[in-house]
Amino acid sequence: MTASYDITHHTYDVVVIGAGGSGLRATLGMAEQGLKTACISKVFPTRSHTVAAQGGIAASLSNMGPDHWQWHMYDTVKGSDWLGDTDAMEYLAREAPKAVYELEHYGVPFSRTEDGTIYQRPFGGHTTEFGEGPPVQRTCAAADRTGHAILHTLYGQSLKHNAEFYIEYFATDLIMSEDGQCQGVVAWKLDDGTMHVFSAKMVVLATGGYGRAYFSATSAHTCTGDGGGMVARAGLPLQDMEFVQFHPTGIYGSGCLITEGARGEGGYLTNSEGERFMERYAPTYKDLASRDVVSRCITIEIREGRGVGPNKDHMHLHLNHLPPEALAERLPGISESARIFAGVDVTKEPIPILPTVHYNMGGIPTNYWGEVLNPSADEPDAVVPGLMAVGEAGCASVHGANRLGSNSLIDLVVFGRAAAIRAGKVVDPEAANPTLNQASIDKALGRFDGIRYANGSTPTAELRLEMQKTMQADAAVFRTDKTLAEGVEKMTAVAGKLNDIKVTDRSLVWNSDLMETLELTNLMPNALATITGAEARKESRGAHAHEDYPDRDDKAWRVHTISRVDGNRVDLSYRPVHLDPLSTAEEGGIDLKKIAPKARVY
Ligand SMILES: Cc1cc2nc3c(=O)[nH]c(=O)nc-3n(C[C@H](O)[C@H](O)[C@H](O)COP(=O)(O)OP(=O)(O)OC[C@H]3O[C@@H](n4cnc5c(N)ncnc54)[C@H](O)[C@@H]3O)c2cc1C
Repeated sequence: MTASYDITHHTYDVVVIGAGGSGLRATLGMAEQGLKTACISKVFPTRSHTVAAQGGIAASLSNMGPDHWQWHMYDTVKGSDWLGDTDAMEYLAREAPKAVYELEHYGVPFSRTEDGTIYQRPFGGHTTEFGEGPPVQRTCAAADRTGHAILHTLYGQSLKHNAEFYIEYFATDLIMSEDGQCQGVVAWKLDDGTMHVFSAKMVVLATGGYGRAYFSATSAHTCTGDGGGMVARAGLPLQDMEFVQFHPTGIYGSGCLITEGARGEGGYLTNSEGERFMERYAPTYKDLASRDVVSRCITIEIREGRGVGPNKDHMHLHLNHLPPEALAERLPGISESARIFAGVDVTKEPIPILPTVHYNMGGIPTNYWGEVLNPSADEPDAVVPGLMAVGEAGCASVHGANRLGSNSLIDLVVFGRAAAIRAGKVVDPEAANPTLNQASIDKALGRFDGIRYANGSTPTAELRLEMQKTMQADAAVFRTDKTLAEGVEKMTAVAGKLNDIKVTDRSLVWNSDLMETLELTNLMPNALATITGAEARKESRGAHAHEDYPDRDDKAWRVHTISRVDGNRVDLSYRPVHLDPLSTAEEGGIDLKKIAPKARVY
């Protein structure tokens, strides 16, 4: 017998789960076309993690000097360490300027140049002339509060176009038909404890990353990979989960982010000898080398005994040589963060920093229209009807093995927009909604009820900490066969303990114990897929730095990892990387010779 809950039913053309940059851009695009659209969010939309994005959004506008979408595409291909899908990366770089101008017209208050055009700053890994020229100023910024500006603008625009918001609703599980079509979602309303069933012709997962699988992360506590969890429970796969980005400059101790824009504006790193060590590792781009590279260099310096502080376990980031007026104008937010979280006055002293988990390159596999894929050996690009994924939750894949700074915000709006364009073609507003599969709804309610009354012996907070410490120790900046094998074993045991979880609060109204437990059941499959995929990948590529296999192996490993998680078991398979661009050189596309694989040096 299944749990009995009173259900409120809702019917929409499109239901978007998530109100971060990607979810709001998708919601807006759907609503603009007249599709009846709902957006569900577990937090108030403008509190989504996108609000914390500081540095900016990449697009080749050429406002500060020569730039070209093909140079942006080249940098993205190289940044991905040749694991990104070529068609998706072309789409990103080509559409980026359009998507940014749209944001401008929607009302995003970008910082301005003397001429009144959008201000752009340099960011790591963004260059000119296919990596042959100097760094480019490509990252469009609204001071150091770019995500904040984008999120507020998109929320206002979505309301203007009559999108309907379900705020502080927690989506628990997808509703799937017997033959694998997504039909909607089950959600729990946090403030009154009621349960809701949303029927939709298209569901869009825009639930963000799963940084909180780790102990130290720059992401919000709400970044718990709920979309990945829902997908795994629906029997669908995750892709390239082993690639986790560490940001070189999290504030030592709190993990709070200091944007790469700080180095873009002229900041630099030093070790205990006062040496600007990045000059030794990346002679050309120095402190503006790609993130994975800078994170590894910091880790090597610390290992070799040149860390700063009493425990020699972190590094210094200097901004104190920059004019105080420039800091106040361009980096006011991080000046405040440094004061609050490190007690540092950036105009006088360096900021103590350490590489911190920042971004998940992996996620729910999609094509460049945002449609979710369920690959098989015969059909590596098979589409799941009725389901899309965008933003950090998705994997299109444009970031491959490593994301460039400022390429996520542009990913959110380009693919949020693409999903809306696609939905405009495949969703028929005149058609009836599909008849919901009651068995799938009952399963979701049964799971919810089971967790609500869970009476094992392991409290949620204890198990979460065990998972976070294991991931931090064993799926870190540097990895070895030994740490990964131990990590898989430990994580398998940790995930198994979900069966022994203890929830103490049985109520339904503002029950944070229950919500955190549901989130833990989502973090777990993400974490397990991450470490299992990492253990299997016998090479080094992008963020996956394997000490026993220090080289990239394109012959064996230029493939996407596909992981299906069932309980504490992970089944791995592989899917080819898309090597073909959208357009040939004759059609105005990139010359494929330009993006042929080579060593990735900065
Ligand atoms: C501190 C920081 C700074 C960054 N700076 C930059 C930058 O300068 N440039 C750049 O390009 N990238 C930056 N990034 C990366 C980028 O900001 C993120 O990848 C991006 O904002 C993620 O957006 P999103 O739309 O995918 O999800 P998010 O913004 O994380 O939003 C997720 C949404 O999903 C909802 N949700 C999740 N689960 C559920 C559920 N179960 N039920 C209902 N709703 C749910 C949440 O309520 C939220 O609305 C930064 C990241 C961090 C952490």
